[in-house]
Amino acid sequence: MPSELIDPDALFECRQCGDCCKGYGGTYVTRKDIEAISRYIGTDPRKFVTEYCQLSGQRSVLAQRTDGYCIFWDELCTIHPVKPLMCRRWPFVKSLLVDSRNWQIMADSCPGIRADVPVRTVEKCVKKILSEERRGLR
Ligand code: SF4
Ligand code: SF4
Repeated sequence: MPSELIDPDALFECRQCGDCCKGYGGTYVTRKDIEAISRYIGTDPRKFVTEYCQLSGQRSVLAQRTDGYCIFWDELCTIHPVKPLMCRRWPFVKSLLVDSRNWQIMADSCPGIRADVPVRTVEKCVKKILSEERRGLR
């Protein structure tokens, strides 16, 4: 397939329903995420981890409110420009390279995902996204 046809935006467009900002076991934050979000909301990283994160095993995840939503959800993502890698990458997750049939399962819970896409195209898009991340383009 010519590279110009590998277009992740053609496979997914967020509808901002917020369904993925609720439950799902938490949103992991990397060190870079912590630094970027702390700067964005005007706090320091240590305070951010204490006040806005919870532990999942040894790793920090964004805290969830009692209604199950992410602490930064308020009808939309209030930290959208600096949202964590895990949120930015969705739905082009690495595990699709292990089993791209999961795309269909993910599409059942995310209205922004186009389900009628060949798995080979999904795999190519995941590789493209990961490559862009490595080159600092995302
Ligand atoms: S479930 Fe899908 S469409 Fe809804 S907010 Fe999450 S990514 Fe966007
Ligand atoms: S950071 Fe934003 S996109 Fe990610 S789970 Fe929280 S509200 Fe949703």
